Amino acid sequence: MSGKNVFQKIIDREIPAEIVYEDDKCIAFKDIHPAAPVHVLVVPKQLIPTLNDVTSEDEATLGHLFIAAKAVAEKLGLAGGYRVVINCGPDAGQEVMHVHLHLLGGRKFGWPPG
Ligand code: AMP
Repeated sequence: MSGKNVFQKIIDREIPAEIVYEDDKCIAFKDIHPAAPVHVLVVPKQLIPTLNDVTSEDEATLGHLFIAAKAVAEKLGLAGGYRVVINCGPDAGQEVMHVHLHLLGGRKFGWPPG
């Protein structure tokens, strides 16, 4: 049995996803349960389970995710703004143990989040 998480399987093309962006360091695809008209996950190809596992060696990888998120937002026409979220751990509801940015847009968002 494969020990890969669902995002690694998407990266390795073992399960399908609606990919909107990819480069050597990350991949971005549509969330299967969208919480907004645009809901894309920006995922590093390197496995880092949660934000609590990040080290200084991951600085470039994490920084790159934000550059990619900006490119995806531009590509998907989110000129009016968007929200970027990282869930860390059970209290934040993290389901997939592979660090990722949620890029949400296409509607207004409230603050504070639920
Ligand atoms: P999180 O709760 O921050 O770990 O977010 C995990 C996200 O992954 C959720 O919003 C899920 O809807 C999404 N997700 C889980 N499996 C898939 C999949 N196969 N394709 C696309 N999105 C997925």
